[in-house]
Amino acid sequence: MSLATIIRSEDQLLLPTYDRQKVLFEKGKGVYLWDSRGQRHLDFLSGIGVNALGYGHPAIQRVLKRQASRLIHVCNLFFHEYQAELAKRLTRISGLDRAFFCNSGTEAWEGALKFARAYARTLGTNGHKPKWRILALENSFHGRTFGALATTGQAKYRDPFGPMLPGVSFVEFNDIADLKRKFDGSVCAVCIETIQGEGGIRPVSSEFLNAARSLTKRSGALLLLDEIQCGLGRTGRYFAYQRYGVQPDIVTVAKPLAGGLPLGAILTTNRVANAIHPGMHGSTFGGGPLACAVAIEFLKILDQSLDHITELGEYFRSKLDALKAKHACVVDVRGMGLMLAMELNSADAAKATVAQMLKRKILINRTNETALRFLPPYTIQKKHVDEVIRALDDVLSQNASRISKPKSLARSKS
Ligand SMILES: *Cc1c(COP(=O)(O)O)cnc(C)c1O
Repeated sequence: MSLATIIRSEDQLLLPTYDRQKVLFEKGKGVYLWDSRGQRHLDFLSGIGVNALGYGHPAIQRVLKRQASRLIHVCNLFFHEYQAELAKRLTRISGLDRAFFCNSGTEAWEGALKFARAYARTLGTNGHKPKWRILALENSFHGRTFGALATTGQAKYRDPFGPMLPGVSFVEFNDIADLKRKFDGSVCAVCIETIQGEGGIRPVSSEFLNAARSLTKRSGALLLLDEIQCGLGRTGRYFAYQRYGVQPDIVTVAKPLAGGLPLGAILTTNRVANAIHPGMHGSTFGGGPLACAVAIEFLKILDQSLDHITELGEYFRSKLDALKAKHACVVDVRGMGLMLAMELNSADAAKATVAQMLKRKILINRTNETALRFLPPYTIQKKHVDEVIRALDDVLSQNASRISKPKSLARSKS
């Protein structure tokens, strides 16, 4: 089927939830994707952080093929050999004690919220107010299901679907005074993306994260970190919180965990696990043998990749900083490791830049209106960074000359 036919069919048959770029991808290899016209694209978005090892990684393919021919699904009423081993690896790298497996980011976050409520109940009220309020941050994103949506601090995602889950209040991003104002003994959880992803690649400040940690510790509330986008190597550490030296009570992961297969995980402490009993939570598909076997392989490869991610992240960052110094339209460069953003001075400029980059066969996207987001595969080399920087430099120069050119000149050119 041609792209035109597919677009026509989708227009009639799918719910109109996505505004897709008009490109049909057919295969991938390494850091490249090929479209239906045989054109090669350099992928600096990696399926929004999912394809962290790029495409067709030989070790991932080997495990995937072997396991697909042995066993794809076993329900959670029985054992298979991979959940325990995957949990062992995830707890070792996170410093937490226990894991629960699900299928997506939002599902991991739902479970984390449920566990926070269940744990708080076991503390009893002691004559105080019940402990069930949840504090989340403005500008955050935790997913599309109701609990995750209720804790997502961007009205555009919530507004069509109200009323939301009760008991959630939003705290200004990195505003310790606002956190202290809204925090009291009735709070069971403080929710933070260590680096806000959809919110424009904004790392939480060390002061704010430490303040959240000490407030929650003192009152028996839990610190929930959403590392679905920034976790599992993206920042050059296993988890972004390890760059801060802060240990959460619950962390959620998903995107890159199973090499492109859907898999999410909630990691937590023994203390929280003690509040959970058989039947309280579960999943039909979550933690199946195929996804778990691939995830184990992903984590083995990740062990060997952290230094490379750090090195390439620093290289990329320094090149982006140089572009910022050169182009007036660049107002900020942010992020850690291979989770980086370049903020432009207008939403139109950012939109045009993404489109121009696509014309040059480089995939990036725009988040939070004005931020160009870079989530390349961990396997990129310096030459790939150089290619992206050259293209960006060109595109930003052209944008600038288009904007600053006198009208008569611009007209005579067209
Ligand atoms: C992507 C993302 C989610 C939601 O994950 P899904 O798999 O799309 O449900 C939640 N939190 C963060 C920080 C994310 O980046």
